[in-house]
Amino acid sequence: MDVLIRIAESLREALFPTRCLVCGSFFHPVDHKGYPSCGKDFQGGGVFSRDRTFIFNMLMESFLCPACSKGFSPVESPLCLKCGAMFRSREGDDHLCGPCLSSTKRYRKARAVGIYDKTLRPLIHCFKYKEKIQLANPLEKLLFALFINFYYKEGNDGEEGMDLVVPVPLHVRRFRKRGFNQAFFLIRNWVGMAQALDMNLPFFEIGRDILVRNKWTEPQVGLDRDKRRLNMKDAFSLSDSERVKGKRILLVDDVYTTGATVDECAKILMGGGAKYVDVLTLARTM
Ligand SMILES: [Zn+2]
Ligand SMILES: [Zn+2]
Repeated sequence: MDVLIRIAESLREALFPTRCLVCGSFFHPVDHKGYPSCGKDFQGGGVFSRDRTFIFNMLMESFLCPACSKGFSPVESPLCLKCGAMFRSREGDDHLCGPCLSSTKRYRKARAVGIYDKTLRPLIHCFKYKEKIQLANPLEKLLFALFINFYYKEGNDGEEGMDLVVPVPLHVRRFRKRGFNQAFFLIRNWVGMAQALDMNLPFFEIGRDILVRNKWTEPQVGLDRDKRRLNMKDAFSLSDSERVKGKRILLVDDVYTTGATVDECAKILMGGGAKYVDVLTLARTM
């Protein structure tokens, strides 16, 4: 019987290999024996102590071939305490980068899962522009893992969580065209996921409609830092400032480029009385 099952299994795999979303090649997903309870999502929370590359590979194994998985580069220390930029030198402690020393940035700190390069760039592109909506689930979990790691893990320098998680909004015209806000798709199940963890996490809520994008802006690609900042000026407003007053807010987006977008959002949230605003993105340009 065992033999028959094995033959059937290998036939199934031979007939239906998986297509890598990044390079398009066919591959057979490996059964990673080293992934404890991962298939069962994040039950028990043990996965949060694993490193970022491990979590990435675990979540992406059915979507990326091994070669493309290897192209993932996590954002690691030493990095800038404020904007999260990685330093060229791979030695030493985290500290402020040159631009942040004299910065007027309104957010407290920005962090990202990985570098926006050969794997994360095409992956996020597939998700946003090619309607590979099946990526929403693993990408959401990836960001959630980092969120728990930063704000709820024991011994994380006194951080004690967030009150409100807010997605960077799209303009209604872009929303209609794309059909979804990718930033919201990265956080929409977090409350349920947190409850399912059984870790007694303090309450937080998702503030889907708190920020509103009033101004139509052309894509920022190709614009320099100053133009981006100008482009974003007065682009956002608050739907209800009562909901942000005194709150610790996590602002979420897919990619951090110059930080102009998230900083403009942070300005509005701080203007509404937020206690502080941190930023979390899937990827960051370096
Ligand atoms: Zn590939
Ligand atoms: Zn910096």
